[in-house]
Amino acid sequence: MLLATDLDGTFLGGTPVQKEQLYRIINNGKGIQLVFVSGRGLATILPLFNEPFMPKPEFIICDVGATILNGNTLQPIEPIHSLIEERWPGEEMVSGLLTSVKGLVPQNVPQQRRCSYFFNEHTDVDDLKYKVEQLNCDLVLSAGKFADVLPKDINKGYTLQMLAKQCHFPMEEILVAGDTFNDLSLFATGYKGVVVGNAEPGLLEATAGWHAIYHAKEEGAGGILEAMRYFSLVEE
Ligand SMILES: [Mg+2]
Repeated sequence: MLLATDLDGTFLGGTPVQKEQLYRIINNGKGIQLVFVSGRGLATILPLFNEPFMPKPEFIICDVGATILNGNTLQPIEPIHSLIEERWPGEEMVSGLLTSVKGLVPQNVPQQRRCSYFFNEHTDVDDLKYKVEQLNCDLVLSAGKFADVLPKDINKGYTLQMLAKQCHFPMEEILVAGDTFNDLSLFATGYKGVVVGNAEPGLLEATAGWHAIYHAKEEGAGGILEAMRYFSLVEE
C-alpha cells in the first residue's frame, strides 16, 4: 500500500505509543510506501528525520502541494515540478498585490511556490478572494486561521494524483490521511482516506457520508492505524 499522509495533527499526532507502533510497521518493510503531504516547507520537514523511529518517505509533497521531491535525493520530481512552477506568478507578484488586503498577516515560514498568511474575523476575505482570482491562483482557508495562496489548481490532492499516475500506483492500494481543511483535496481524489480523530469540524462535515472516507476515533497515528485495520490494508 501507499500511505500519503499529512504531518501535523496526523502522522505526527497521537500518543507516543501509537506513533511508535505505526512507525515500526512502516520501518519493518511490510510493503508500505510512504509519502509525506504537508503544508510545511521543506526546511521545517528535514529536522523530523532526526527523531527516533521516524520512517523515511519515498516522496515528499510539501508547501501544500506546490513542492514535490524524491525523499532520498530531495530532487524535484519532473515533469510535475515544472508544471507547478509554470502556474506560479512568483512571490513578489503575489505578496505585492495582497499587501493591501486588510487584516491579512504573512506567515513567517519557509515557503516556495505559495504564499501563506494568517487571517481572522477582521480580515477582508472578499478582497482577498478577488485579488487571488486576479492573480489566477487558488486560495485555501483552513483551521479558521491559515490562508494559503497556491498556483492554479495545485493542492495536496492534485499533486498526489499526478505522482500516483506517473508511478502507475494502483488506486485501490492508496490510503490518504489528514486532519484539517487543507487536506480536503486529498479526500476528494477518490482514494481510500482517513480523517483522524480531533479533526477540524469543517473537514468532518465536508467528508461526511463519503463512501471511501473513514472517520477515525483515535487521533493522529492512532487514527491511521485504526483505518489500516478498517480497510484491511495491513496484516497484524
Ligand atoms: Mg494537519
